[in-house]
Amino acid sequence: ANSQERPAGRVPGVSASSLLPLPAPGETPRRVLTIAGTDSGGGAGIQADSRTIALCGLHACVAVAAVTGQNTVGVSGFHEIPPQIVADQVRPVVSDIGVGAAKTGMLASTEIIEAVADVALELGIGRDTAVPLVVDPVSASMHGDSLLHADALDAVRHRLIPLATVVTPNLDEVRLITGIDVIDDKTARAAAEALHALGAQWSVVKGGHLRTSSTSTDLLYDGDRMLEFTSPRLPTGNDHGGGDTLAAAIACALAHGRSVPDAVAFGKEWVTRSLAAAYDLGAGHGPVSPLWRLHESVDA
Ligand code: PLP
Repeated sequence: ANSQERPAGRVPGVSASSLLPLPAPGETPRRVLTIAGTDSGGGAGIQADSRTIALCGLHACVAVAAVTGQNTVGVSGFHEIPPQIVADQVRPVVSDIGVGAAKTGMLASTEIIEAVADVALELGIGRDTAVPLVVDPVSASMHGDSLLHADALDAVRHRLIPLATVVTPNLDEVRLITGIDVIDDKTARAAAEALHALGAQWSVVKGGHLRTSSTSTDLLYDGDRMLEFTSPRLPTGNDHGGGDTLAAAIACALAHGRSVPDAVAFGKEWVTRSLAAAYDLGAGHGPVSPLWRLHESVDA
């Protein structure tokens, strides 16, 4: 873990132009539902999602799919929530509170993925519905600890990704899901096409883990347009929860009715600023931090 010299959230070439509008005090914010795993260290998973959703000015609803014990050096273990209990957390939220977008993170097993896919179809969550769905196909922590049973990859491919408005794998997840080892622009494009072919409306291939590149370039593909989003590569080892933060920010922008390309541009800016504001924690990788948002004026 290393410290940042730059003031919180200030990234050269990244502006505050696209912050989402905040609700007035007392005004009901838009809602985002996250269906994911908890991180007892508070860095990733539901904790990262809720932080980003709140600081984007939205209300976070949560369905816990798994409970992990973890800190900044690794995951000590996880406990799966019974699949029916996962679905039973989603139904009352949608019927009473209503959500503008949803996001999935760590789902751990085939059975939980099937329960989530079934309840999404039942309630009208996912691509081509009124409630867009961001699928972050979480498979392992940055330390290599597994967060998804290996036999659940087929359910990720054939039940979860076909429901995605946007799917946001990192490069390890791209390799597990598509078999493509992304090493350059050509393989990144092939991966975006392979993910789209699995049924996602839009696929994102994140370049953040392609450390040979001096920039972090994400590709976004809908079967027609291949869009590129580039940000500076930030020199920090504190990047725990970066993927969750990106996907949660994309879901927030979708809940505001932004188009998918606009939402991904917003998410990219949000995670870049949150990487610049990451802090040291424990002995390992500290979390990316959206707390920089607290320094922005309300009408920024
Ligand atoms: N733990 C949980 C519950 C997660 O959802 C994630 C997300 O991807 C991680 C850990 C791993 O985060 P990272 O790879 O940023 O360490």
